[in-house]
Amino acid sequence: MNKPTILTGDRPTGPLHLGHYVGSLRQRVALQHDHQQYVLIADLQGLTDNGSNPQKIHDNIPEVLADYLAAGIDPRLTTICLQSALPALAELTVLYMNIVTVARVERNPTVKNEIAQKGFARSLPVGFMVYPISQAADITAFKAGLVPVGDDQLPMIEQTNEIVHKMNSLLSTPVLRHCQAMLSQTSRLPGIDGNAKMSKSLGNTLTLSASEEEIHKAVCAMYTDPNHLRVSDPGCVEGNVVFTYLDAFHPDTAKVAAMKTHYQQGGLGDRVCKNELETCLQELIAPMRERRNTFIQDKGALMAILREGSERAREVTQATLDEVKRGLGLPML
Ligand code: ATP
Ligand code: MG
Repeated sequence: MNKPTILTGDRPTGPLHLGHYVGSLRQRVALQHDHQQYVLIADLQGLTDNGSNPQKIHDNIPEVLADYLAAGIDPRLTTICLQSALPALAELTVLYMNIVTVARVERNPTVKNEIAQKGFARSLPVGFMVYPISQAADITAFKAGLVPVGDDQLPMIEQTNEIVHKMNSLLSTPVLRHCQAMLSQTSRLPGIDGNAKMSKSLGNTLTLSASEEEIHKAVCAMYTDPNHLRVSDPGCVEGNVVFTYLDAFHPDTAKVAAMKTHYQQGGLGDRVCKNELETCLQELIAPMRERRNTFIQDKGALMAILREGSERAREVTQATLDEVKRGLGLPML
């Protein structure tokens, strides 16, 4: 039986962080054994809001790849590829742009939010506005049925399925697959500053390569319950970043549940909770940081992995593009 196909990816806009780890990386490591998994380093999408700073994208490609390997993504089980090395993706994007209206693109809530956050106003790059269309090209080119992502990506999956539906109806034989988001238990990890989403662009991350000191400082500065003044006061766990992180990362769920009850009743101090969290994050990050330090030293080997994966992915994506072109009646010269 054919294994189900997965496509996910990340923008090489900075080193990966704990949000990526719980939102998607952790799942990819588990899924790679019984799925046909493709992971795309989306450099073209990274350029959509970094058009004047291509160096940043260039520099972060090996960084993201080193993070993948450190987190446990195995290039023998997962095809890791580079978006700009797959021209079929750009060609599919151009074809899809004709069946999506400006009004539809403007309605995408994640894009709307990002445009506001980045303060683009009239200097909004056209490429950024349409990146969900290019993301639809990425997903459909691999004929992926499953997409493990954080919940900020749900509008992209919805838009992808609309494109699939419309494009299939125009083809002599439908060739594109509908896809489904796979949300993890922590589908949106808040930033260490308490902001709704940990994000590279918001500068509120704890990276997979964070030093011991950085982890310590981040946990110390974490937002708790502002009304929990004395240890004996009852505290609130909802919206308390320390507890959100304990839920996301602590392996002993029973212990976290007991801590929550204790905190809510009063008598459990923030310091104790933060110590517990710090220990657990130090233990999680230390082995990844070490593995990453080794991988990043050999950029040649990293690029060879990416080249090999991209060669495999080029065939798959080109085949889909050919099917779409043929289905639209474009001459195959
Ligand atoms: P940027 O700020 O440059 O957009 P980012 O931190 O949002 O970077 P992306 O590369 O855009 O990271 O996201 C890659 C994947 O990781 C997506 O599936 C996204 O949903 C997921 N992800 C990113 N941040 C989080 C988070 N805080 N919680 C859960 N999932 C996340
Ligand atoms: Mg993002």
